[in-house]
Amino acid sequence: MNFDPTAVPSPSYVVDEKLLIENLELLKSIIDRTNCKILLAQKGFSMYSVYPLIGKYLNGVTSSGLLEAKLGFEEMGKEVHTYSPAFSDAEFDEILSYSDHIVFNSFDQWRKFKDRVKGYPKKIECGIRINPEYSEIEVDLYNPCFAFSRFGVTLENFEPDELDGISGLHFHTMCEQNSDTLARTIEVVDAKFGKYLKDMKWINFGGGHHITRPDYKIETLIESIEFMKNKYDLDVYLEPGEAVALNTGFLVATVLDTMHNGMPIAILDTSASCHMPDVLEMPYRPEIVGAGLPNEKAVTYRFGGPTCLAGDVIGDYSFDEPLKPNDKLVFCDMAHYSMVKNNTFNGVNLPSIVLNTVENGPKVIKEFGYEDFKERLS
Ligand SMILES: *Cc1c(COP(=O)(O)O)cnc(C)c1O
Repeated sequence: MNFDPTAVPSPSYVVDEKLLIENLELLKSIIDRTNCKILLAQKGFSMYSVYPLIGKYLNGVTSSGLLEAKLGFEEMGKEVHTYSPAFSDAEFDEILSYSDHIVFNSFDQWRKFKDRVKGYPKKIECGIRINPEYSEIEVDLYNPCFAFSRFGVTLENFEPDELDGISGLHFHTMCEQNSDTLARTIEVVDAKFGKYLKDMKWINFGGGHHITRPDYKIETLIESIEFMKNKYDLDVYLEPGEAVALNTGFLVATVLDTMHNGMPIAILDTSASCHMPDVLEMPYRPEIVGAGLPNEKAVTYRFGGPTCLAGDVIGDYSFDEPLKPNDKLVFCDMAHYSMVKNNTFNGVNLPSIVLNTVENGPKVIKEFGYEDFKERLS
């Protein structure tokens, strides 16, 4: 962290431009070495004020539907790929207007929309999402291959006679994983779907590649990309979300009050349920700069948010000194799956969005208030 937490609004998400550029440079080095294409999965990180920067390194965006497709089209202006578990009739034509690639989740969806794609004045590459029924994710909540999953076509349900107009296959079966998982997944995809890949132009390896993590094995990723390029002459796409913004952002918060009920408790101006919902959903324990594990340092606090939800608890953290109101806390790795998922439950305001710029230090990009709360209600 190279900014002063007392110099930014509280709470605020602070994304560090220099750290983001380091991630982007690593991703770009993979593009340069393999000629693959890497897209930002906007689901994980949609801070569009940095899309022009991201667009200098990556090939475009991937979108989960109309709104993300439009955002990526407007704000990055490079390739836009769109996949949705099911497209709606009403939105489809507008989705076409923004998209270069559309990935369908089923052959029924493909049949339903293919004439609209073919009749569209612009050429759009169409793909089918496959479910290779192989995943090393153990938690069902984020395992796209769990039993009865709605994501993608299994080999049994694949319809080889319906491939006219389909130029690629897409799979997404990983989450925060290293490239050895990818290599094993590629073997399964090859064994099951290789006969169809022969006639394709591209394959999309989805997201979940933790490429910017220090222990990530880049060479194994490169080998997987080269394998698909060499064996089937395919263009390879990757669409990481988390890896683009991994370890590039912080959430700065303030202690509002401390109290005691069996243990020291601190109430913060940030909330797990409103500002970092993955803490409760995944769940996980975010790191805080300077704090230890429970009981590791002199005083252990339980951190709770300002909402009325009893379970709005961020976790237990220990400190050398007792905390007092107005103390600043800096949560780590808060760029991805944070601002895209936050909400104003309980009338809690949204954190400001700050970019810690290389040139001039922290720059407040956006602050929120009553109007933002009110506008999504009626
Ligand atoms: C979520 C998702 C991604 C991005 O996943 P990360 O874990 O953020 O890399 C990419 N593609 C699809 C289809 C997704 O659902």
